[in-house]
Amino acid sequence: MKKIIFASNNKGKVEEVKYILSDLNIQIVSLADVDETIDIEESGDSFEENALIKAEHVFNRFKTPTIADDSGLVVQQLNGAPGIYSSRYAGLDGNDKANNEKLLNELKNYPHPHRAKFVCAAVYYDGESTHTAIGEFAGRIIDQEIGNNGFGYDPLFVPDGYNVTSAQLEPEIKNSISHRLKAFEKLKNKLL
Ligand code: IMP
Repeated sequence: MKKIIFASNNKGKVEEVKYILSDLNIQIVSLADVDETIDIEESGDSFEENALIKAEHVFNRFKTPTIADDSGLVVQQLNGAPGIYSSRYAGLDGNDKANNEKLLNELKNYPHPHRAKFVCAAVYYDGESTHTAIGEFAGRIIDQEIGNNGFGYDPLFVPDGYNVTSAQLEPEIKNSISHRLKAFEKLKNKLL
């Protein structure tokens, strides 16, 4: 069976991606499975570039076909911010609380609705070919955090077609409509 590394240390993401790609007849292993924690500088200018940087880095290290992703929140009134800087918007990497506070502060002088979308780039790289797929999840940003599920900007994000935040949705529901699902479904079709 063909083996592919998924270049992520995030257990939840690894399980989600294993599930999405389960009908590909490949073995997906995570970085934890290959005994590696990597910290790769995301120095690209786009989600695609950052995902490709990760995939190439891990492929070069293990010489094994690799899938990587990069994602974030794109807010229309902020000209696309926080974008590729989503996890470090307020300075420290992964401080969701501070990031959400900064987002509300940046938006406070703009009228509603604050149109936004989550974007995910999923990339496959095997030393010869590269496949890229983008998934988007559209909605709007509200004025206060609601909900305890999910992570990141979920408590502020109301997906189109819903009147609750993505942090109020059951994880299975959110995962079935998310940017990540759409990107990895598209990538799967390219790999088939
Ligand atoms: P990464 O692709 O896992 O590095 O995600 C980058 C950042 O984008 C995260 O730290 C979150 O701030 C934000 N983000 C990406 N996907 C989601 C999501 O599904 N919900 C909420 N925030 C997200």
